[in-house]
Amino acid sequence: MPLPKRRHSQARGRKRRTNQALTAPTLVACRHCHQKIPAHTICTNCGSYGGRVVATPKKET
Ligand SMILES: [Zn+2]
Repeated sequence: MPLPKRRHSQARGRKRRTNQALTAPTLVACRHCHQKIPAHTICTNCGSYGGRVVATPKKET
């Protein structure tokens, strides 16, 4: 198995990792109950998707 001849400098590794920053998830308001939810997901509060109720929320039971 090939191995690197020399170790990379700290700066080289850090330069590579400058592109790995985390970004905050995109939150949009639910069209049904206006709660902030991640985009393209079923609302966990009211169970709606695309302005239409498609599932029953879990916390009702
Ligand atoms: Zn909702």
